[in-house]
Amino acid sequence: MPKANETVLEIDLSALTHNFNYLKSKLQPNTKFLAVVKAFAYGSDSVEIAKHLEELKVDYFAVAYTNEGVALRDAGVTTPILVLHPQPINFKTIIERCLEPSIYNDRILNEFVKVTETLSQKHYPVHIKFNTGLNRLGFWESDVNDIVSKLKDTSSVKVKSIFSHLAASEDPNERVFTEKQIAIFKTISEEFESNLRHKPLLHLCNTSGVLNYPQAHFNMIRSGIGLYGFGNSAKEDKSLKPIASLKSVISQIHKIEKGETVGYNRAYKANGFEKTATIPIGHADGISRLYGNGKGYVFINGKKAPIVGNVCMDMIMVNITNIDCNEGDEVIIFNAYNKASMLAEDSGTISYEIITSISQRVKRVFIK
Ligand SMILES: *Cc1c(COP(=O)(O)O)cnc(C)c1O
Repeated sequence: MPKANETVLEIDLSALTHNFNYLKSKLQPNTKFLAVVKAFAYGSDSVEIAKHLEELKVDYFAVAYTNEGVALRDAGVTTPILVLHPQPINFKTIIERCLEPSIYNDRILNEFVKVTETLSQKHYPVHIKFNTGLNRLGFWESDVNDIVSKLKDTSSVKVKSIFSHLAASEDPNERVFTEKQIAIFKTISEEFESNLRHKPLLHLCNTSGVLNYPQAHFNMIRSGIGLYGFGNSAKEDKSLKPIASLKSVISQIHKIEKGETVGYNRAYKANGFEKTATIPIGHADGISRLYGNGKGYVFINGKKAPIVGNVCMDMIMVNITNIDCNEGDEVIIFNAYNKASMLAEDSGTISYEIITSISQRVKRVFIK
């Protein structure tokens, strides 16, 4: 790996291949793989990641919002793309760009059917989302008959899949609740299917569902975090490889005396003679102010250097009093060994938030 000489997010595409193959090894041979590439493929780069996954023969993509799907189409991605959280204002674009909406309530169903009819569509693929306990998006079990009778009145749309989402698939203490969600999903999909003339895809599991509930893979799984190298458990983290390394460099070293302060609001006061290093990465790059004042840290020459004082917009200062280092030396915020999941745990968040927060200002570098 090249040494960083500015702030970069390095993406290791061979680690992505490894994670894809590992997750695939947990599936039956004919179970389809939907890769979740929302939020810039969890903070990395949705186009590069999607293109690489297309080479690996992924079956489906999902994004949260319509414009994320448009960006993939603009880049030449041709695999089907499920839009998890569309709004009626996006429906014309969805059809123009061959994106496939999640239909999560009556309002969305009626509006989408109206637009497909206006645009003379036949059998436009849609995905019916059910709420089985997350209480976020989706129809209820009691809506099945209503949906089916509405669909019988039109040939403009076709149900490509029926799906739901687990609330706590990573939590062994919630096994009973998760098994109840699986059972509800089974009942709904059987009832729905018995009213259709074709067999839609059924999918329920996110990454932790794939790993913890092999009985619930149905015809397709939806994996996001696992592809990016996190398994939401110490055991699975051993088998996966984080694809992203956030690196930077020491811009300047300061020597300060006891009682001198560092940074805005004079939030840090030296306890004696100390050395600090200034690093060109700040809250505008995704290093939240919550990591300030010792909660977050970086690694310099293999040693942990805590953030001192407040995180600035474009930089942080870290304590290097006991670290042998020089201006220009590389700084690791996280990588495959000093994992984002550990920084997340130490600062009270989850890996998902750390990696998706790296802002677009940070240069992406791809290792093939
Ligand atoms: C984001 C998302 C996923 C991916 O979940 P991971 O835990 O990252 O695997 C799957 N399904 C839905 C509906 C999502 O919103």
